[in-house]
Amino acid sequence: MSYKIGIIRGDGIGPEIISEAQKVLEAAAVRFGLEFEYTEILMGGASIDVTGLPLTDEAIEAAEGCDAVLMGSIGGNTSTSPWYKLPPDKRPEAGLLKLRKSLGLFANMRPAYLYDQLREACPLRDEIIGDGFDLVVMRELTGGLYFGERKTFEEEGLRKAVDTLSYREDEIRRIAIRGFDIAMKRRKKVTSVDKANVLDSSRLWRQVVNEVAQDYPEVELEHMLVDNCAMQLVRDPRQFDVILTENMFGDILSDEASMVTGSIGMLSSASLREGSFGLYEPSHGSAPDIAGKNIANPIATILSASMMLRYSLNLDQAADAIDAAVEKVLADGYRTLDIMSDGMTRLGTCEMGDRIAECIQLG
Ligand code: NAD
Repeated sequence: MSYKIGIIRGDGIGPEIISEAQKVLEAAAVRFGLEFEYTEILMGGASIDVTGLPLTDEAIEAAEGCDAVLMGSIGGNTSTSPWYKLPPDKRPEAGLLKLRKSLGLFANMRPAYLYDQLREACPLRDEIIGDGFDLVVMRELTGGLYFGERKTFEEEGLRKAVDTLSYREDEIRRIAIRGFDIAMKRRKKVTSVDKANVLDSSRLWRQVVNEVAQDYPEVELEHMLVDNCAMQLVRDPRQFDVILTENMFGDILSDEASMVTGSIGMLSSASLREGSFGLYEPSHGSAPDIAGKNIANPIATILSASMMLRYSLNLDQAADAIDAAVEKVLADGYRTLDIMSDGMTRLGTCEMGDRIAECIQLG
């Protein structure tokens, strides 16, 4: 069976890490008899250099024509790159915002998984980490406080600013369905996070999540207040499987969850909409400081490719094989510079991709 994958190489380390992810995808294709057809899509600085724009309409159309899109990262050094002399809507990051909006990507998924081999990078104590944690934050991406009406004005001689947090039930329902679907592919537990003791929008959130839960009798649902969730993430992250939450709470909690893993080069992410299409990318940026030196860690992008196989292309076996290969390479003591520790063997970007691809082929 053949699958159409859009490839955005992007800027900085983007092209290097995407090449390694493609190497790994090809190894999975050989092992599982799959065919991946790649469409190159320009975005960010790379697109500005060629077209003058961070994202063209043709690029959006090309992405729409794919089953899923895998992206490196975009952007340059914000102090020195000429891209940042352009007006804000012409800069590399504007391309990504436009792509997410044009494709209607309303759900952001960021896993936080602690590899046993990288326990040293985790800032939590050993007795808290236990045998490790594996959770996903599902964040609503296009509603809530960041998109509500806002204004700054003067009232009775004092400056006043107002932001509005609003959600419609259909916006809540579609992300909740996504969250429960993801839970069905994992350990079947959803923790819905809100502030229902104070906010009306949270009380509606809770009601709608309860309604959606009726269609998922196998999934255990719990509700948690956001302040408690922020504490629980550092007190006992092992209790979580899928954390489902609105835009601003998700913004904060997903950063907190990723920081407790301690390794930025290992963290994947996905932006999803209804149906199976998704945009997959590492959580980190384009790291212009290390671009072209063959030292970037490609694993976040390789794991993003694995998520793409699992959640957009329904190729769970191939995704499992990639995840297992990453574990094996770490267990064998191979590390890129960012996760290097005493007694381990250091590999470059390209060699790390080779090792993981080799592991997939050997099975
Ligand atoms: P960054 O994530 O690119 O880098 C932060 C630090 O982490 C740097 O020291 C970098 O070398 C290191 N790092 C990041 N990824 C790594 C990897 N895979 N392996 C090893 N080390 C890694 O963040 P920044 O420096 O704040 O931003 C650089 C550029 O990236 C900016 O233009 C920014 O706008 C852009 N950015 C893009 C995205 C995206 O494409 N989604 C996200 C965040 C930042």
